[in-house]
Amino acid sequence: MPPFIRKALDVGDKLALLASDSRYDLACSCGTREDEHRRRGSDDRWIYPAALPDGRTTYLFKTLLSNACVNDCKYCPLRGGADARRCSLKPEELADIFLSYFKVGKVGGLFLSSAVEGSPDATMEKLNRAALLLRRQQFRGYIHLKIIPGASDEAIRQSVALASAVSLNIETPGAHNFKHMCATKDYARDIVRPINLISRLTAKGSRFARVKQTTQFVVGASSETDREIIDACATLYKKLSLQRIYFSAYQRGAGAESLPGERSNEDNAAMLMREHRLYQVDWLLRKYGFEASEIPVGADGRLSLALDPKEAWARAHPEFFPVNVNCDDRSRLLRVPGLGQTFISRILAFRRNRSRISSLADVARPTKLLRRAEGYVTF
Ligand code: SF4
Repeated sequence: MPPFIRKALDVGDKLALLASDSRYDLACSCGTREDEHRRRGSDDRWIYPAALPDGRTTYLFKTLLSNACVNDCKYCPLRGGADARRCSLKPEELADIFLSYFKVGKVGGLFLSSAVEGSPDATMEKLNRAALLLRRQQFRGYIHLKIIPGASDEAIRQSVALASAVSLNIETPGAHNFKHMCATKDYARDIVRPINLISRLTAKGSRFARVKQTTQFVVGASSETDREIIDACATLYKKLSLQRIYFSAYQRGAGAESLPGERSNEDNAAMLMREHRLYQVDWLLRKYGFEASEIPVGADGRLSLALDPKEAWARAHPEFFPVNVNCDDRSRLLRVPGLGQTFISRILAFRRNRSRISSLADVARPTKLLRRAEGYVTF
C-alpha cells in the first residue's frame, strides 16, 4: 500500500486511538501516566482505576468520542490544524462496546469526553446520546461526562440529568491568562458561565445535588502564577462547591505549540514538580484546614519547588510550634509537617486509650516523613 493511503479504521482501531488521546484529561480521578495503575492486557488500554465520589474505587472505561477539534488551544496536541490522525465513534458504537465490557465485569463506569466536533452543542448531543443509550439499557452505574466549553444551557442540563459527575476544564485562572492559550473560546462565556450553571444545578438541596462537578488546570501553558491558581481553587471549592480540582503540567514536545507564557528556564521536569506542589496545596485546602491566603508563595507568586508548601508555612511560623502531641487538638496537629491524616487519627486513638506518647515511634514505625515532624513537636 502506498505510504500516503491509510487503512480505514475499524471500531477497535478508533477506540485505541481515542482512548489514548483521552489520557490528557485528568478530571476523573484516573491515573494518567502510561504505567500508572492501568490494567494489563491486550485490549485493556482504555481501562483506568478511579475513585468514586463515595470513596469506593472502580475501573472506568475512559475515552473520547472524537479527536477532531475545531478549537485552537495552543497547549493541546488535538487542536485543529495539528498533525494528528482524526476519527470519531458513534454514540451507538460507544454504548455497545461499553456494555460488552460492563457485562463481563471488566469496568464499573464510564468517563466520556470529546474534542469539539463541529460545534459545542453538536458534540454535546453525541455525548448525551451515548449516556442516554446506556441509561435506557438500565445501566445505573457511574457516568462522568465532559461538558464542552460553549455548550448551551439546555445541553448542560441534559448532561447533568444523565451523569453521576460532570467536568468542564477551566484551564487557567482568568481571561488575561486564557487569551494566550486559545483564540476560539471566550473565557467568560464558554468556561465561567457553564461552571457557574453546573454549580447552581447541582447545589445542595437541588434535584441534581447527587451530581459532582470537577475541573482541571493546565499548569505552565500561560503566564499564570501559582497564587492565581490557588485563589481560583479556593473560590471553586468554597463558592461553587466543586468536588475536586486536577492539575496537568503543560509538557513541551507533546505536540503543543510554543506558548507566549512559557518560561524559557523551566523544563518539563520543573513543570511536573510545579504540578505536584499544586496537588499538595489542594490537599492543604481540602483536608488540612488551610486558607488560600496562608499558602506561602515567593515575590513572583510562585510556590517553592524545593520545599513542600506545608513545611514552607511551618518555617514561616515558628511562633506556632512546638505542637504538643499529647495535648493539642487535631487542627494543630494537622499543621505539623510530616504528619498526615491517618497518623494523626492514630495519635488521637492512642490518647483516647489513655496511653501517653513519648515519641512518634510509639505510634508508628519511624519513616523519613515522620522524622521531618520531630523538629516541630513536643510530648
Ligand atoms: S477544545 Fe481545546 S483542549 Fe479540547 S480537544 Fe479541542 S483543542 Fe484540545
